[in-house]
Amino acid sequence: MSRHRVADRAAALGPYLIAPAGLAAVVVAIAVVRTGPAWIAPAALGLLLGGGLLWIVASALAPAQADKTCPRCGADELQRLDQGTTRGVRCAGCHFVDASVSSFYLAEEEGALEPMILAERRSARRSR
Ligand SMILES: [Zn+2]
Repeated sequence: MSRHRVADRAAALGPYLIAPAGLAAVVVAIAVVRTGPAWIAPAALGLLLGGGLLWIVASALAPAQADKTCPRCGADELQRLDQGTTRGVRCAGCHFVDASVSSFYLAEEEGALEPMILAERRSARRSR
C-alpha cells in the first residue's frame, strides 16, 4: 500500500474520531476537576485561551495563501475564472474549469477586493 493511501485512510477516519475524542475530553475534564490539584483547571483554561490567542497572532502574521494546485492535473496553475468575481477557477495547464469553487484567496493575492465585492453586492441587489 502506498503512503498516499495510508494517509487517505487516516484522514478518512478523522471524522469518526471527533465524537469519541469529545467524550474523552469531557471525562478527563471531570476527573481532573474532581481529583486533580486545584491549580490544574485554571492552568488548562489558561493554556486553552493562550493557544487561541497564539493562533490569532500566528494567523495575522502568516495569513493563508491560495492553493493553486489543480485537482485534475496537479499543476500549480489555477487562476480565477472571472476577474470580476471571487467565484470559479480554471487551470492554465489542462483547461480544468470549476465555476462553483471559491477563488477568494486567489483574488486576495492579486489585490484589492473591495471594489469587486461592492460590485457583486450591487449586482445581487439588482437581481432581487
Ligand atoms: Zn490542471
